[in-house]
Amino acid sequence: MSENRVQLPREVDIDKCIALGAVFTRARIDIDELPRFKESCVKVVSDVLCDVRFESDLNDMRVVIGHVDCDVSFVCQRCGNEYVEHLMTDFTLSPDWERAKACNLENKYDFIELNDAGKLDLYNLIEDSLILEIPAFPKHDEDDEECSRSGSNWSYGELAPDASVSPFAALSALKGSLAKGDDKGSDASDK
Ligand SMILES: [Zn+2]
Repeated sequence: MSENRVQLPREVDIDKCIALGAVFTRARIDIDELPRFKESCVKVVSDVLCDVRFESDLNDMRVVIGHVDCDVSFVCQRCGNEYVEHLMTDFTLSPDWERAKACNLENKYDFIELNDAGKLDLYNLIEDSLILEIPAFPKHDEDDEECSRSGSNWSYGELAPDASVSPFAALSALKGSLAKGDDKGSDASDK
């Protein structure tokens, strides 16, 4: 089946794609073309499928819009068994940083660079987007029966429900703790 799918081209000429109104629907990427992503997972168990289209927006900025998804297996950090997770990512990117800056639109998009040939490397940007979707703490869904530790008392900062505390008291306590300023460090890893 997967062999019948259109393969997403690695490099595209964004101007040409916009002029032609190019659209790719459920186009696939061979996983061996995404080595950094592949190595970050136990295994990619489905095709990597992409919807990508190209536009010129009202400010004449060139934009590439896409959605990518695939099934990936990870090792569950609770039970140690492999499980499959559906990863998906959406992106809206523009190579026109200078123009955005001139129009005060730096916050409207994320920006990408074109390669030395002036082309857009779709695989590189899709690989980056997928890597960002990899969970920092892969684990089965909370109520997944396959997780051999499900039903145990693992919890991640959940508040224990306490019937004796009124919701209003809980809310004002929460406001109090927010007012104190919450400077918990981010645990995002830069790996
Ligand atoms: Zn598990």
